[in-house]
Amino acid sequence: MTDRQQPGIVWFRRDLRLDDNPAWAAATAAHDEVVALFVLEPALLDSAGSFRRDQLLAHLHSLDARLQTLGGCLVVREGPAAIAVPRLVSECDGSTLYFNADSTPFAARRDEAVVAAVGDAARIFHGLTVHEPGSVLTQKGTLSQVFTPFFKRWTAVPLTPWPEAGEARPVALQGVPIPSPEGAPRQDPGEDAAWQRLTNWLDRVDEYPTTRDIPAIDGTSDLSADLKFGTISARSICDVVGRSTQGRAAFVRQLAWRDWWAHTLTLRQDLPDVALKAKYDNIVWRNDADEFWRWCVGSTGYPIVDAGMRQLSQTGWMHNRVRMICASFLVKDLLVDWRRGERFFRHHLVDADVAQNAGNWQWVAGTGPDASPYFRIFNPTSQGQKFDPSGEYVRQWVPELAGLAGAAIHEPGASTPAALEAAGVVLGETYPDPIVAHKEARLRALDVYKRAVS
Ligand code: FAD
Repeated sequence: MTDRQQPGIVWFRRDLRLDDNPAWAAATAAHDEVVALFVLEPALLDSAGSFRRDQLLAHLHSLDARLQTLGGCLVVREGPAAIAVPRLVSECDGSTLYFNADSTPFAARRDEAVVAAVGDAARIFHGLTVHEPGSVLTQKGTLSQVFTPFFKRWTAVPLTPWPEAGEARPVALQGVPIPSPEGAPRQDPGEDAAWQRLTNWLDRVDEYPTTRDIPAIDGTSDLSADLKFGTISARSICDVVGRSTQGRAAFVRQLAWRDWWAHTLTLRQDLPDVALKAKYDNIVWRNDADEFWRWCVGSTGYPIVDAGMRQLSQTGWMHNRVRMICASFLVKDLLVDWRRGERFFRHHLVDADVAQNAGNWQWVAGTGPDASPYFRIFNPTSQGQKFDPSGEYVRQWVPELAGLAGAAIHEPGASTPAALEAAGVVLGETYPDPIVAHKEARLRALDVYKRAVS
């Protein structure tokens, strides 16, 4: 049998698409038949909240359906991958294995074990980011610790060409059934739905600079979970959106942030675990268990924080501005270690991505590269008033305050007794009193941070 006649194996992971997928393209160009493999990893499934798990399973069903229209199917095996993947390679007489790299510590360890087992049979590609991690560097060959120069270089570096797809047929092999999602997925699954989301976004992207910070409106693309699961590539998004208007350029810049954190995690596998500015690990966190719990369940007495945390637990997603406010509140106002918040978000977010999540938590906590300076502490009340001026966002997620008019919803304690009574709000009963007084908490945080870093 020639190499062409022997089926290639494509191991899908965070690239649940056939279009614009370098590993799939290379395999279909080199073989007449291709086995499309997905491994259900118990470690990953167990760590995912229900929204992410359901979305993943729905995408797998959709990928399977697309492969069936081509005469094959998605061959699903149970993990761990370090055992399941080499086993399939040997079942297929040592066929070539194609996959796209991922930079998380879990993926790096897993892939190292697989490559050690299959040896020369592995072909690794890069399809997760616009530029391969490690390819956008300063003239000295290092990763810029400041985003703006990275971004400048990111826009100048030519794209590495991806392989052209061929005509191979997917083949069906025995596997386990894809489990059914327990609930309806948050978004319609599959590549076509992801492209539809991108197409819809094109009608709104030009307004991005003015809409992106307003959580009550659909002012962002909602493509983060597609990027997480790879139902569309970051390259395709950049290519389709372009940078011809201010809004488009601002949007594409965010995709460069995504690449920057992927670059950072590739170099610093400890990004989720240690402060990248080492002295910030001297911070003496309070880590009060009850306060942490009240943050988790959205019962802090700060309406915008509670709205965000409830949006997260009820939908698996939270608006970026509100992610920043909630994270800042946990780390600065409550002085809870950013790693606890990072783990909580990672479990619940449908778009949870170790690089983006840990990178952004370090950014908010002031502990990472190019981070927000530690003395910049968000005031949750004024952030709410500024970015949710009508109170519509809070009204949606904190219905017990819905009777408070306009921006007054952001500071229930400042309302008159008559206004509270008319709205049916009894502070301390129907809605909690603030867990901390922000003014005092701010001074406490400044003191604790200053001691750690000076
Ligand atoms: P849009 O505004 O439409 O942006 C388009 C895309 O750009 C996003 O889908 C995302 O891929 C990228 N992007 C936007 N903002 C950022 C950013 N600050 N950093 C990196 N990439 C960005 N994003 C994740 O994808 N996964 C995470 O686990 C994650 N955790 C976060 C935790 C915290 C504490 C914070 C402050 C931000 C986090 N983000 C994370 C970044 C950002 O909040 C989300 O990418 C964004 O809200 C997703 O919505 P969207 O697709 O509508 O974004």
